[in-house]
Amino acid sequence: MRTDGSKLKKFEFPPEAYAIRLYFKCEGCQNEIALYDIECPAITFEHPEPDDLNDGTSHKTCSCKYCGHLYDVDLNNRYGAGMGTIKGLYENASVYVVNQESIDTVFQEKIQDQYSHIVNQCYDADKMLQEIDPLIINEETRQYLYKLIYVSFIACMEEYLYFTLINLITLSEDNKDAFGANAEKIRRKIENELLIPGKSYEEVLKSILLKRTFHPTEEICGYYNIYGIDILEGISKKILDDAIDIRNDIMHRNGLNIHNNITSLSREDIDALKNEVLKLIGNVETQVVKYIRNIEIHD
Ligand SMILES: [Zn+2]
Repeated sequence: MRTDGSKLKKFEFPPEAYAIRLYFKCEGCQNEIALYDIECPAITFEHPEPDDLNDGTSHKTCSCKYCGHLYDVDLNNRYGAGMGTIKGLYENASVYVVNQESIDTVFQEKIQDQYSHIVNQCYDADKMLQEIDPLIINEETRQYLYKLIYVSFIACMEEYLYFTLINLITLSEDNKDAFGANAEKIRRKIENELLIPGKSYEEVLKSILLKRTFHPTEEICGYYNIYGIDILEGISKKILDDAIDIRNDIMHRNGLNIHNNITSLSREDIDALKNEVLKLIGNVETQVVKYIRNIEIHD
């Protein structure tokens, strides 16, 4: 199959970019196409020789993963013009161009690091349990370990939801405004505390949100909803709610529930909670990544 040379879409890209991503609808099947890692040529001000490799242009052929439709992407950065073409795409098609670096910096440093940190903690806790559990001969000690691990999974979820929300809010001025507009009480608190000199928005926000409980309550779900993120997507709310009740019995009443019975945990209880927490964190992460891409695209 060859690229359809009769169609040519032109677009501009940031001349300073090292790599860009392109998003457009496939001519062949109308599916959304995302082309990653399209390396940009360095700016050149020289008039290149015919066989000069650094002639300020680059070329890449890509195909639609659904229907195989071919596209030739050419980038021209002579004199810092940042002009690109997609051969095979109709000239009136919409193309979103994203400077890949700007997403990756925000994404990797803040959001993705937080995600890996929490997932690693969950795996570490699980590994510790697998190593220590067979060595325990006393049921009382076992319950003690189980309770610690159980509570730690909820703590991981809370830490993740707390820091990810702060990262989302502080991602841009628009995001801060959106948060302020939807969380009136918190906005007033932030404004009051910002009157004290020497405090940054992020510090104030962190200290105010630190007093909240970061379980998937209506309040916390609502904050994420401001950015179109549903933290309970695909999650068993029942497993989480029950787990949070058990966590409160353990933390506040030394394991006694409201009927004065001691909460006893099994390995299955721990595994069920771990799976639900990892699922929740993974789903939120996916939605956050999508969200970041979209706001970059529509900037
Ligand atoms: Zn296609």
